[in-house]
Amino acid sequence: MQLDVELKKSFKDFTLDVAFSLSSSRTGIFGPSGSGKSTIMNLLSGLELPDSGFIRLDDTVLFDAKKKINLKPDQRNVGVVFQHAHLFPHMSVKRNLFYGYKRTRPEYRQIDPDGLFKVLGITRLLSRDVSTLSGGERQRIALARTVLSNPRLILMDEPLSALDEGHKFQIIPYLKNVFNHYGIPMIFISHSVLEMRMMTDEVLVIEEGRIQQHSAAEELVKKSWGSGLESYINLIHLGSASPYKDLFRYKWGDTSFILTEPAKGEENLFELDSRDILLFKRHPEATSARNLLECTVTDIYGSGNRVRVELACGNEHLIAQIVPESVHELGIEKGTMVVAAIKASAFKKIF
Ligand code: ADP
Ligand code: MG
Repeated sequence: MQLDVELKKSFKDFTLDVAFSLSSSRTGIFGPSGSGKSTIMNLLSGLELPDSGFIRLDDTVLFDAKKKINLKPDQRNVGVVFQHAHLFPHMSVKRNLFYGYKRTRPEYRQIDPDGLFKVLGITRLLSRDVSTLSGGERQRIALARTVLSNPRLILMDEPLSALDEGHKFQIIPYLKNVFNHYGIPMIFISHSVLEMRMMTDEVLVIEEGRIQQHSAAEELVKKSWGSGLESYINLIHLGSASPYKDLFRYKWGDTSFILTEPAKGEENLFELDSRDILLFKRHPEATSARNLLECTVTDIYGSGNRVRVELACGNEHLIAQIVPESVHELGIEKGTMVVAAIKASAFKKIF
């Protein structure tokens, strides 16, 4: 996907003025409330009319003020998922799903509904009344309805914000599956750094109607260093677990981790606080930590009395957070070999 955008839009007390080019199929728009995220989405999808500029999606001009081109929302073939799923309350899930599908032009009906329902785990919900669904289920239905229209691009405006923490993380694997499976590019809007890291590769940071930064999602976390975020959280993707004594072993890159927590599926996400990684100069003889990894220091940066140490451990990466005194005592610099020690109980399951 290639999206080239230059847009201006003024409201009474607010002006949006942005220009960006996106080629990543998993892009985030990140910014505080009122910064203009939803306005961008409304302009892209055709729900609002820009004052000036253009929107080009691959070889299609969706909008161009100078050339007086302005495709209607249904001609743009851009799908939208809102924070609150707009479902018809008195219809079954199935009727909600097919309501739009039947009105979709036949040439756009290229997604096999049953396959999609499986990917989203909603097959068993089809006959239910929408009023009986949980927030996370409603969002999966809303996404299914959007995907059924076979869009070229899906815009998701804070789709997880209305869900509580537990449900939010349950729905993320389904969202990821859909985008992987159908290869639909998406723009994911959120004000949560964690959601950005889980759902996107690249992020546009917007403040007061202007783009402030366009970077990798992980850069976002590093840049917020020193401005509130207490410690870096490593997100660790692990495969299936196998029993190991009374603990569980998970493959991680070309090595493995021992955890106290079991997990059922093939795809599991754990968080590991950077402060829970201890660094040693040499292999400690005996330790209560079940995980000892040989790693190379690839970067070091500090803020106040905390230092972050980026580590390459085999073909994977970790960030540890230590105090400046430890850096001196361990003689850590770029290229130094260290042993990272992590307790089996330090990993917390996200999903
Ligand atoms: P975000 O989604 O980042 O929270 P929005 O794009 O919804 O921000 O809003 C950005 C600013 O534009 C806000 O100050 C909001 O009040 C204003 N705004 C958005 N839409 C309209 C509108 N239709 N009329 C007037 N002001 C609007
Ligand atoms: Mg918004």
